[in-house]
Amino acid sequence: MKTFFRLTENAVASLAEKFGTPLLVLSVEQIRQNYTFLLEHLPGVKIYYAVKANPDENIIKTLHSMGSCFDVASDGEMQALTSLGIETDSMVYANPVKTPAGLRVARELGVHKFTFDSESEVYKMAQAVPGGSVLLRVRVDNPQALVDLNKKFGAHPEDALPLLRLAREQGLQVAGLCFHVGSQSISAKAYLDALKLCRQIFDAAAAEGFDLRILDIGGGFPIPAIHENTDIVAMLDSIAAGLSQWFPATEIWAEPGRFICGTAVNLITRVIGIQQRNNQQWYFLDDGVYGTFSGVIFDHWDFELETFKSGMLIPATFAGPSCDSLDIIFKDKMTVPLELNDVILVPNCGAYTSASATVFNGFAKTPVVVWEEIQFQTVEMELATAG
Ligand SMILES: *Cc1c(COP(=O)(O)O)cnc(C)c1O
Repeated sequence: MKTFFRLTENAVASLAEKFGTPLLVLSVEQIRQNYTFLLEHLPGVKIYYAVKANPDENIIKTLHSMGSCFDVASDGEMQALTSLGIETDSMVYANPVKTPAGLRVARELGVHKFTFDSESEVYKMAQAVPGGSVLLRVRVDNPQALVDLNKKFGAHPEDALPLLRLAREQGLQVAGLCFHVGSQSISAKAYLDALKLCRQIFDAAAAEGFDLRILDIGGGFPIPAIHENTDIVAMLDSIAAGLSQWFPATEIWAEPGRFICGTAVNLITRVIGIQQRNNQQWYFLDDGVYGTFSGVIFDHWDFELETFKSGMLIPATFAGPSCDSLDIIFKDKMTVPLELNDVILVPNCGAYTSASATVFNGFAKTPVVVWEEIQFQTVEMELATAG
């Protein structure tokens, strides 16, 4: 099984001392490994990293240097990437409902690949980005995903052909189809079902003279989570087999978000308050649901807390530092008893965490340091001392 970036107890202690807490530690090496791993197991697939999962510029630059493309969803993401020197050719504006500002910025910058799932979007694109290259997003149902995106997006398969026709009539370049099986999808089945469905639509479209060249299989690839650890190799291998069976000659794109960044970040947080209320043990941490733990709310994620302590487990409530009653991270979370100032490591903290964090109540966003850079600094410091 793959191993992932996980700070040791010593590293956690010295980083907490040197930088303070809360602190996010990003391993760009893990980003590289995740990207390479996906390419190895989905050979020939063009990767468009879904920027919304974590827009940290160290991640973007690392992926860019490896040849990755990017899935963007807003004017802000297109502008941020452009300012980092990313070519618009390697972006797909993959939000099926684009804002006027998003379309204007796409046109100004020259982003020319889009996804859509409705008639009204065809007219919007035909007017704002005439001749744009478009992928139709089809709806695929997958109740097994942690976050089901298909309640919000995706054209019903029966509407696919009429939408493709309309896009062609409106002068858009009809390039292919896309789907998203939902985030943290734990089996290959949803992808394989989607591939079969898309094959039918490709064939029906070909009969009407469409030359669909691209299939975008979206994101959703899982990372290890508390109650599950999917056999990712078997999963990707069976998706790859499905692709070569049904789409041997088609250009395939994928839009992984979580898989690329989720395992590359560790949070170091600290116990800043302890309370007993109604026989329940409460621990207050210096990061909360308005911050890095926003994934508890927006991403339905259950985070692992590594305390580096041993002892009898007790159920406890973990709360964040803000004064809001919503700022409760976990209830009845089993933990060893903790003390004030204890540091806690939260691994696999890179996806849908800092990206959706706020500065509510005046708490700044948790700073990010790059593990490989600070390791180097530490070595330099040691050399300087030795010299
Ligand atoms: C969020 C999103 C992704 C990334 O999904 P993950 O589950 O993080 O891989 C990819 N494509 C689109 C269109 C998305 O909205």
